[in-house]
Amino acid sequence: MSHYIDGRYVASEGGKTFTTMNPATDEALAELARGTAADVDRAVKAGALAMQGPWGRTSAGERARVLRRVADLIDQQRHELARLESQDTGKPISETVTGDIARAAHNFRFFSEIAAHRELPSYVGDDGSLHTTHAEPLGVVGLITPWNLPLYLATWKLAPALAAGNAVVLKPAELTPLTAGALGPLLAEAGVPPGVFNVVQGFGPGEAGEALVTHPDVKAISFTGETRTGEAIMRAAAPSLKKLSFELGGKGASVIFADADLDRAAETATRAAFRNQGQICLAGSRLLVEESAYEAVLQRVLAHVAKIKVGDPLDEKTTMGSLIGKEHREKVMSFVERARTQGEGKIVAGGRIPPSQARGAFYEPTVITGVSQRSALVQEEIFGPVLTVQTFKTQEEAMALLNDTPYGLSCSIWTKDLARAQWAARQARMGLVWINSWFLRDLHAAFGGMKRSGVGREGGRLSLEFFSELKTVTFPGG
Ligand code: NAD
Repeated sequence: MSHYIDGRYVASEGGKTFTTMNPATDEALAELARGTAADVDRAVKAGALAMQGPWGRTSAGERARVLRRVADLIDQQRHELARLESQDTGKPISETVTGDIARAAHNFRFFSEIAAHRELPSYVGDDGSLHTTHAEPLGVVGLITPWNLPLYLATWKLAPALAAGNAVVLKPAELTPLTAGALGPLLAEAGVPPGVFNVVQGFGPGEAGEALVTHPDVKAISFTGETRTGEAIMRAAAPSLKKLSFELGGKGASVIFADADLDRAAETATRAAFRNQGQICLAGSRLLVEESAYEAVLQRVLAHVAKIKVGDPLDEKTTMGSLIGKEHREKVMSFVERARTQGEGKIVAGGRIPPSQARGAFYEPTVITGVSQRSALVQEEIFGPVLTVQTFKTQEEAMALLNDTPYGLSCSIWTKDLARAQWAARQARMGLVWINSWFLRDLHAAFGGMKRSGVGREGGRLSLEFFSELKTVTFPGG
């Protein structure tokens, strides 16, 4: 598979390629064009040219109709796309059909609706002057996406970028290029003109990703990925003064008070820790439990962990697939080894490569108790199926533990006491606070992280605003 530029699949200038693997079977899936600065430049030029054509003059309503057709086509092809996503990422097919791919279609449907009904403010001055707000496209924008939720996150950026009338160059993660690579013809069939949507495949530093970030004609970069990559992108983007939106790493927690519905809390906290093999920025990878409920919660969590079915991602019954690759699994295991060999905690579940999985990058769901707040297990993003458990005595201590990491993306607070829930939500230095729930999303709501978890917010009109140039046009009073 190649880049998708100006409505066609094309090879890299220079002809370099790379291989994408199925992490669950260690088999090669496809050979892809490996993008260079010249490829990015071709894609940006195609985008700029397309903005001078009919796309640059479309109304929000016309674009909304095109995006709705994109959503319908994704729905129609959901089984093929889900299979491709499962093979490329190692995640269970049961999650990709109803999770990743359904959400990709929803992203297009949602942004087509809100862009078509967008309200922009106008003000009447004391002197009768009229100040009106106009939203115009930025031009060519760059999207750089990670491997953990490939199509889900690419379309979370792509749909608002197109709805706002821009041309797009998308650089998907090199580990999971396939579903983004399949989008081109689908968008074309829905009525997106050539050059409006381009995909350049390849790597980040010194290659396609960096070339997109430094390109002078790319007006904005919306990036999701690691915090350190965000730093590199911010530095590289500085000379061209682009707009930047960053969704970065997380170290989320489920905070369970003794008065909570412990059955629901433990079941949801287990899902929060292990869904997508724990490779979700919003994962509740830390469990903070009030001391008096510790045993009750731990036993419930361990019972749920024991029911997780690790295995072939294409088997409908599988609930945990493979990690993204062996290199990533090494990183995850190095954290677990700190508990095993350096006394940083006690492994009470998992902590091994499943003996039944000789191939692939599988790892057992792992629970570690007795960790200290200063341990790397608590402070750093592991991004794998590892849950640490800590206890607290007071609500103040709970919030102090919750907030004491460099990250500030998300948490869940479990209590039946509404006043305490509200108090805790105010204390949490997190962009997203779920009360008695996890991963409940409404796409209108602001999404993003505090501290080292992000810069800016996406979601609803905030995404449209990011991808727009707002202009104030003023008429004098009579
Ligand atoms: P990553 O930062 O390694 O890569 C993300 C993308 O950036 C890839 O496409 C990569 O090729 C590109 N890239 C890497 N270096 C670059 C550079 N110097 N210039 C330009 N592009 C570059 O992240 P990953 O390992 O793919 O994803 C996992 C990370 O993403 C985790 O930290 C996770 O928490 C985070 N994440 C955050 C959110 C969120 O919404 N906050 C959502 C999903 C994932």
